[in-house]
Amino acid sequence: ESDDARDRGMAYYRPEHDSYSADRLTLASELREAIRLDELALFFQPKLNLADERVVGVEALIRWPGRTRAVGADEIIAVAEQTGLIKPLTRWVLQQALRARDELIEAGQEELSVSVNISPNNLREQEFPLFVQRLMAGHPQHAGKIILEVTETSMMQDPANSLRALRSLHFAGIPLSIDDFGSGYSSLSYIKRLPASEIKIDRSLIVDLSFQAEDRVIVQTTINMCHDLGYKVVAEGVEDRETLQLLEEMGCDMIQGFVLTPPQPMDEFMRWLTNHVMQEKRRA
Ligand code: C2E
Ligand code: MG
Ligand code: MG
Ligand code: MG
Repeated sequence: ESDDARDRGMAYYRPEHDSYSADRLTLASELREAIRLDELALFFQPKLNLADERVVGVEALIRWPGRTRAVGADEIIAVAEQTGLIKPLTRWVLQQALRARDELIEAGQEELSVSVNISPNNLREQEFPLFVQRLMAGHPQHAGKIILEVTETSMMQDPANSLRALRSLHFAGIPLSIDDFGSGYSSLSYIKRLPASEIKIDRSLIVDLSFQAEDRVIVQTTINMCHDLGYKVVAEGVEDRETLQLLEEMGCDMIQGFVLTPPQPMDEFMRWLTNHVMQEKRRA
């Protein structure tokens, strides 16, 4: 590109200077294939109720096994959102989540919920609430037990439409959870109107809880506020016993995190659960 063109603010596309988006293009077509060939997987992380130390549910998290270069969930979702693949991907995830819960029921764990993350783009699809409603109507055994998680920041991109979609989902009996709360810009006046039943406090506020007095103030205030607004509170990313103890003293309802276990495939999760229940019985 000539100095002249640069001076006038023009940019010429040169693929060799744009390996990032070339990578993204390759990744996008590989992802499309992976969805089609059913090569993606869901891992599951337990959600623990602090009052009785019982597992009340699992969160489903996307994984792409069998790749030479590991691609994390955040990257999979970013690529899917940029390419329109998020629509088929979310439908795949929802189908798999229903299957996973069938397995839980079969194993005698029918009280466990399965949480699924959905993208802001899904909320912008006109037909998404109806799609979910129909899907759930075809699987009455999962009624009220498939929770949809939406991040706080994603809703703020398009508050009016997001709220409309969330209201129809809520009206259809789908429990909703506000994910990554406290990680971005949020509007408290918006939060008070959400038809959600649960708020998940972002890991960034939890990670230093045992040695940051300021974080304790913020988390305690958030827990109190959410309780007063009628939400259950989940702390994300709890990595040690001390933080778990603190959260329990602060009145937090539930936790997720490596202190229990990282996300794992369903069969491994079931083995972990059996072990956890046995330990609970021994302690009781
Ligand atoms: P998220 O929904 O907030 O999920 C929690 C993330 O924290 C997960 O990362 C989980 O593996 C990780 N995590 C759990 N406990 C701990 C802990 O104690 N310490 C640390 N350091 N991390 C912990 P993951 O699986 O990489 O997912 C990242 C994000 O990608 C998710 O954040 C969610 O926003 C998105 N995501 C994952 N799966 C899906 C999906 O199926 N659909 C959509 N739309 N988004 C998804
Ligand atoms: Mg989540
Ligand atoms: Mg989160
Ligand atoms: Mg997150």
